Amino acid sequence: MALKYCQSHKCHTYDTKDRKRGSKDNRVNQTRRRSNLYYGSGNFCSMNCYNDWAEDFIDRAVDQISGRLHEPMTLTEENAWRRVWNPNRYDRDYNRVESEPDYIERNVITNEVRPLQNS
Ligand SMILES: [Zn+2]
Repeated sequence: MALKYCQSHKCHTYDTKDRKRGSKDNRVNQTRRRSNLYYGSGNFCSMNCYNDWAEDFIDRAVDQISGRLHEPMTLTEENAWRRVWNPNRYDRDYNRVESEPDYIERNVITNEVRPLQNS
């Protein structure tokens, strides 16, 4: 399994045993490397590292990637579809109904149901 580095620019500044590399007289703290990282969509080794990164870079991410909002967004019937478990996938004896899909979509405004859309 490939190891991933924590993406925080400050990870190596935390002084912990597991960050130390090198021989006794040549020891340095390094960015953590793990097979799995559990914070910030698998990019950071800890909440501290996630917060350090966000503090310095999140303004740029909002401005340049997602786009900063200058007016509110609105929930409408058109964007109110949510993927939910299909309540009919099991019959009343809790047997799986093979013809019923695992998921359906339900409109949170109208409560209407439709098949899962490919989006
Ligand atoms: Zn880290």
